[in-house]
Amino acid sequence: MRLCLFWRTNLDTRSADQLWNAALGQLEIEIPRPNFETWLKETAASSLSDGVLVVTTPSAFAAEMLEHRLSNTIERVVERIAQTPLEVEFQVRHGAASEIAQENPASPHAETGHDPWQNETPAPRAIGASGLQSEFIFENFVSGPANQLAHAAASQVAASPGNVFNPLYIYSAVGLGKTHLLQAIGHRLRGNGLNITYVSAERFTNEYISAIREGTTEEFRARYRSVDALLVDDIQFIASKPQTQEGFFHTFNELHMAGRQIVITGDKPADRVRLEERIQSRLTGGLVVDIQPPDYELRYAILQQKLLRRGVDVPHPVLDAIAAREIANIRELEGALNRVTAYAQLTGEPISMALAEMALSSIGSKRPAPPDVGAVLTAVASHTGVAIDVITGKKRDRRTSSARRLAAYILREDAHLPVTQIGQALGGKDHSSILYALRKFSAQLSADSDSRLLLNEVRRSLQ
Ligand code: ADP
Ligand code: MG
Repeated sequence: MRLCLFWRTNLDTRSADQLWNAALGQLEIEIPRPNFETWLKETAASSLSDGVLVVTTPSAFAAEMLEHRLSNTIERVVERIAQTPLEVEFQVRHGAASEIAQENPASPHAETGHDPWQNETPAPRAIGASGLQSEFIFENFVSGPANQLAHAAASQVAASPGNVFNPLYIYSAVGLGKTHLLQAIGHRLRGNGLNITYVSAERFTNEYISAIREGTTEEFRARYRSVDALLVDDIQFIASKPQTQEGFFHTFNELHMAGRQIVITGDKPADRVRLEERIQSRLTGGLVVDIQPPDYELRYAILQQKLLRRGVDVPHPVLDAIAAREIANIRELEGALNRVTAYAQLTGEPISMALAEMALSSIGSKRPAPPDVGAVLTAVASHTGVAIDVITGKKRDRRTSSARRLAAYILREDAHLPVTQIGQALGGKDHSSILYALRKFSAQLSADSDSRLLLNEVRRSLQ
């Protein structure tokens, strides 16, 4: 009942925002990704009052689709989080021209006196006229072994466009920071006065197809030709679209020959996206970097950074519990964090382990059962061909050391053993040599994909 009273009396947009963020975290897991990306990604909450949560969308079409196709699921999720029945109403965001919102999130609402972002923080998903989200900047990107290479390559490209890695191709599974890095490059270059175009491959396709239909391909070409840097997100969208690939190829070539920077992201290695061979070879001709799923430390650091930016304090055990969860990507990680903070906000209770457990009980899996030492050693031995007694012995040749580092890493990351116990498990190695092994293996992970593959294989065999 207190909960009910809470949202009836606290009609601020902040709780609407938090409730909706928590719901988005959950919806992302429940509904197919393309639907989420198309219909929900760019939505925001604008108010919560009288049992109605108002959610704004970038277009009338999106509002209609959500209303007709997804409102049942959405209301169920929202109700579950708020623990009270709520109606969800979809409205077109005021001042939203097509898919691009206004540069200044506050101004479009000024005349109505209704500004959904009036409370302290700017819109969480504010999109500028350039199509860039304001928070996708380098300063908000936390780097760790999983994304270090991509991060370094992106920073260098941003510092020296057209000169170092051209094109730069970044790939990863969903939700691991490709768009964030791509847009960070865009922000930095724009800040330096360059004319950039950030475009999803989907929008590129739509623009190109309508240019053909309307006989305006010259204008289309001229528009793209005039940019200093072209940033194309999710290139896999043009897989199996020969006509668009043709347009893309020519745009790419013209810009590339003129020394303009091109950065592209995709969901697979360039040679595995179904693109014409000549495009594949252009992509692989530059620098190709991948982003891997974040390890525990990186997950923890990202959570800390998000909280710091919001000025919210969450005790260590709670952060640890969120970071230790088995998650596929960073968006899910954010979703879990949002759920916890939203629960605290909605119930008015401080953030504790009990509250976090309640908030997270229905989503994702908890900390997976840690593998035991014997299983880890056996798996490492069978994948590296170095026998267990050699791994735990005194030999220090390359192969042995590298198998030992891998074992140490898994014992730390997945079995959560303290360093001293890892030392014991590996035949009585001292504290500092284990720390060294862990550091070394982390560095190896960020530098070479063979280590990452090996790690993934061993992990899979342990599940
Ligand atoms: P992708 O484009 O690979 O699907 P995004 O770039 O959209 O993934 O990232 C998903 C979410 O995770 C975004 O909110 C983004 O800000 C956040 N994110 C990803 N990587 C990091 C990171 N290293 N540090 C901070 N936030 C991150
Ligand atoms: Mg993306």
